[in-house]
Amino acid sequence: MCTVCAPAAEKSAFLGIRGKSAATSLDNRQSEADELSQARGRISKFKLQRAAQKLLPEEAVARCHRFNKERLHNPGVDVMLNRVTGRASFGNVVTCGSLWHCPVCGAKISEGRRAELQGGMVTHHARGGRVYLLTLTYPHDRTMKLSDSLASLATMLRKFKATRVYKDTMRKAGSKGSVRSLEVTHGENGWHPHTHELVFVDGSNSSDLELIESLRSHWGKAVFKELGAHINEHGFDVRSGDSAAEYVAKFGRDASGWTAAHEITKSNVKKGRKGSRSPFDILRDYMAGCAQSGALFVEYATEFKGKRQLFYSRGLKEYLAIEEISDEELAEGQKEKEEQEMLGTINEQDWLAVLRNNARGEVLEIAQRHGWEGVQFILEKMRASLGSDEPWYRSVRRFICW
Ligand SMILES: [Zn+2]
Repeated sequence: MCTVCAPAAEKSAFLGIRGKSAATSLDNRQSEADELSQARGRISKFKLQRAAQKLLPEEAVARCHRFNKERLHNPGVDVMLNRVTGRASFGNVVTCGSLWHCPVCGAKISEGRRAELQGGMVTHHARGGRVYLLTLTYPHDRTMKLSDSLASLATMLRKFKATRVYKDTMRKAGSKGSVRSLEVTHGENGWHPHTHELVFVDGSNSSDLELIESLRSHWGKAVFKELGAHINEHGFDVRSGDSAAEYVAKFGRDASGWTAAHEITKSNVKKGRKGSRSPFDILRDYMAGCAQSGALFVEYATEFKGKRQLFYSRGLKEYLAIEEISDEELAEGQKEKEEQEMLGTINEQDWLAVLRNNARGEVLEIAQRHGWEGVQFILEKMRASLGSDEPWYRSVRRFICW
């Protein structure tokens, strides 16, 4: 039974509950505060996605988790429960698989990428290897358009990596390859695209860190040639990628367990620092009523569409034993399909009501806590609220807090 919501006796009275998930995962529940914050995070992901859908009506995200996949054969939407994780999800809905545009798919994709990279790092460490995190940035200001800034970044990276000195240095350092992530934030100096890169070295050269550090001036040269400006002390940063503590120290996040793999795969869930905003922070501000943030998000969405977030150098995936899986497959949860059971199907009309009330996150939360009975309960409240002045959530609020 839910530990966060209303008093148990009262809830039981209305739901007659034993939600499937609630019963099975009770022992493993985290603290109430954690549970509540997870619920809120999940609900807000769907609200945030709705904001992106309004801003990007022509993009795939506009259909994500709204449209049926097989409308002719099954016009309803299934509510699924993962027996292993205890998490609920929708079945028979379209997923957009867009890391950049969609907070819902983006979260699944980045978590999948993090897990595979983390696994690769374990394999690498077991072979005696080390990992370094290299961060490359460059000066920019408010007048730079994002499209120009991204084009310059691509040119500088290409030229930097094509130099003989870069290749020789990486070879001497024992590099087995690298994986680079693309990321962008927005702050008082405008758009700030940058890259984080994990460099995998074999551990044979004890001076590998110093060698990689020696490339600073060469990155500086590439930047100066392209932009006519000098990098500052943060323009080239390299540090051990083996210690999570260093990341927290560097990025100042109160995120225990934050690792190198998180740093480069989770750009979409990171919070901006020192007044800078991540794209989904910008979307959140749009949702709160800032039209200018809406325009910024559209600019970002246009420029990042189709871009790859992670670039593995040739052969590194094989070396790390990482299998190929597409963003779409991760967003669809292909790997978890066998662990899922169906709780029930929301019919077409009720699904339209769920959409109209922007309540997809709430439906999943209640499915997770109270099973199918819970879903039926709030659907009934939504039906009853049609044509009434009383919004559906007001009548369920005393039972469910999120
Ligand atoms: Zn999506």
